[in-house]
Amino acid sequence: MEAEIIAVGTELLLGDILNTNARFLSRELAGLGISVHFQTVVGDNPGRLESVVQMARARSDLLVFSGGLGPTKDDLTKETVARAFGDPLRLDAEELEKIRAFFTAAGRTMPENNRKQAMTPVYGRKIPNENGTAPGMIFEDRLSPGKYAVLLPGPPKELQPMFLNGVKPWLAAMSDSVLHSLTLRVTGIGESHLESKVGPLLQNANPTAAVYAKTSEVILRITAKAEDEAAAERMCQEYAQHFYKALGDCVYAVDKDSLEQVVVETLAAHGLTVATAESCTGGLLSQRITSVPGASEVFAYGACTYANGIKQKMLGVKAETLAQYGAVSPETAAEMARGVRAAAGADFGVGITGIAGPGGGTPEKPVGLVYAAACSGDITYVQRLVVPGRTREVVRISATQRALEMVRRLALKLPQPGCAAFAAEQPAHMPAEQAPAHNG
Ligand code: AMP
Ligand code: MG
Repeated sequence: MEAEIIAVGTELLLGDILNTNARFLSRELAGLGISVHFQTVVGDNPGRLESVVQMARARSDLLVFSGGLGPTKDDLTKETVARAFGDPLRLDAEELEKIRAFFTAAGRTMPENNRKQAMTPVYGRKIPNENGTAPGMIFEDRLSPGKYAVLLPGPPKELQPMFLNGVKPWLAAMSDSVLHSLTLRVTGIGESHLESKVGPLLQNANPTAAVYAKTSEVILRITAKAEDEAAAERMCQEYAQHFYKALGDCVYAVDKDSLEQVVVETLAAHGLTVATAESCTGGLLSQRITSVPGASEVFAYGACTYANGIKQKMLGVKAETLAQYGAVSPETAAEMARGVRAAAGADFGVGITGIAGPGGGTPEKPVGLVYAAACSGDITYVQRLVVPGRTREVVRISATQRALEMVRRLALKLPQPGCAAFAAEQPAHMPAEQAPAHNG
């Protein structure tokens, strides 16, 4: 079944409100195995609405409308669809009574123009609205049977329950397939590099696989269409194996929300704790960790140590280290990680120091240069990260992402690609020209 979504409302075209109904409906229809081929937004204009309806009924089997069911003159969806689908409207006494009662319950009298909302199709059927006065409608095209229009009210708090209770079961019974999706999250490998590794896997018809780049990670969404949920899920799982093979341990999560969630769960599962010392990220790392429920089990201490003096006093970073190598250096990052680990008595320590910009860069230490260190009792890993030409926010997110990934790898005893490794108290000398750089 081929569907399209038509959102009606001039306020959408003016950018006053976001078309969240289209997003909701697209997701719901996709989950039912119904292909959505078009999303249209049209204003409250009779001529343009009419032409959109005619175009849509010529090319799709299911038209789902949002909005334009209100009581005012500019609410035209029902009248326009009724005309195009050859289904006359009549005053529905039962509906009129319900609308009247709705107003009475609110201590008001029904304005006359609300009678318009009590007009329902002769052949089509109405869908009850538990949260407002406008009922929804399902029309079958009298001129092309087998084509349907579903009309839903604009307010999301009315549209969503109406769709879920009054429309979804009917569509599920008509649809002969379901869609299931699996989301793989990948970090430590850029989008273009990823495409070069898994390119052919992205060309498949069923399951399909799509790549979305986010800051410092890539989302891979696998979607299978099958007769039932279990079969679609199995197809996704099988297809995912190809990605695991190609990407290895860079796939850090399946159907999870974020790297911090995975890190907290992994540390908890292994009974491990972490402490963090941050400079350029100003507490973003501890914020990300503590945003996950259950973080208190694994998070010992987060220090935001901007000034050099504080790095010395709170973390025991040596004055000579700061003097010789500077605050933004692998040596300082390593001492921050070791210092905060010791202060907290945690299993792992993290240190982040860098230049988030936009000011403060030099030719040797440009904006976007970050050192992230993660240590356990006997080893310290340092990653040199260069986030070129990006905003302060992106530098900060990328730095915390790398640090979280290093902690995940420490907890799982995985290799730390692109990192230099140092023994317990060994200074973290890592000349810039030799250090591998991770590009954000
Ligand atoms: P309507 O049913 O067209 O009178 O719309 C009533 C209200 O629903 C609007 O004022 C918006 O607040 C909301 N609304 C309408 N269409 C949408 C949409 N596509 N997405 C989100 N909200 C909407
Ligand atoms: Mg409207």
